[in-house]
Amino acid sequence: MLELRDVTRRFDAAGSGPQTVALDAVSLTVPAGRTLVLLGPSGCGKSTLLRVMIGLTLPDEGSVSISAQAMTPESVLTLRQRMGYVIQDGGLFPHLTARGNLALQARYVGWSAQRIDDRIASLLEMTRFPADGLERYPAQLSGGQRQRVSLMRALMLDPDVLLLDEPLGALDPIIRSDLQRDLEAVFETLGKTVVLVTHDLAEAAFFGHQIVLMHQGRIVQQGSYRDLMHQPATPFVTRFITAQRSLHGLRGDES
Ligand code: ADP
Repeated sequence: MLELRDVTRRFDAAGSGPQTVALDAVSLTVPAGRTLVLLGPSGCGKSTLLRVMIGLTLPDEGSVSISAQAMTPESVLTLRQRMGYVIQDGGLFPHLTARGNLALQARYVGWSAQRIDDRIASLLEMTRFPADGLERYPAQLSGGQRQRVSLMRALMLDPDVLLLDEPLGALDPIIRSDLQRDLEAVFETLGKTVVLVTHDLAEAAFFGHQIVLMHQGRIVQQGSYRDLMHQPATPFVTRFITAQRSLHGLRGDES
């Protein structure tokens, strides 16, 4: 379980402008084995929240804990090994092949070559990545393949928690929908605790057991797609849903 209590994160504006409050006293519990989607317009604090969860950014106020272990400057590196992180452009090292990217962290924590090969073989099957792509560099892979490598890399050490920041955001619609289905199958098979960031309501509805809608650094509503549709907590929720539904042509009765 992942728990945030009253997390506030501010950033200094360039020059003498006011501070940006990226997260404003956010409290959130992500139950083990569930998929939670962080949804909201650009700039509402989704990525900052994910970065706080993985300890890339420490909160100015409030606390984060993973399975009841507090995240502190001392514990962050150990806790991070229990989390996999996927970002929109994959974040792969360009000078390493797909295999090199996958093996890097496992070598660092002392896995044998055999153990690394066995793990890669099982991940290839799970993510439907072609074995001959392993010797290619990221620039020689398609966008969808790069994201599959990024997903394999995040899963390599078998983390408890998987954090994905707009993992499908840079892909064209067909590749996106293929990978969406494969990701869902991986989440279900592995039973991981998953937090996925998107600004897309349809994607949130596809993945989210639980959707957390954010606005201006705060959580405005948590619930299912149906809850957001039929019991909007604030006028902003209605505005957001209406704008997205007209974008996607979604019907009002989808759940
Ligand atoms: P989202 O992921 O929802 O688009 P972000 O978490 O990236 O939103 O950003 C939330 C707010 O914090 C925005 O106003 C953004 O400009 C600001 N912000 C995020 N990271 C930084 C940073 N490193 N320095 C200054 N401002 C930042």
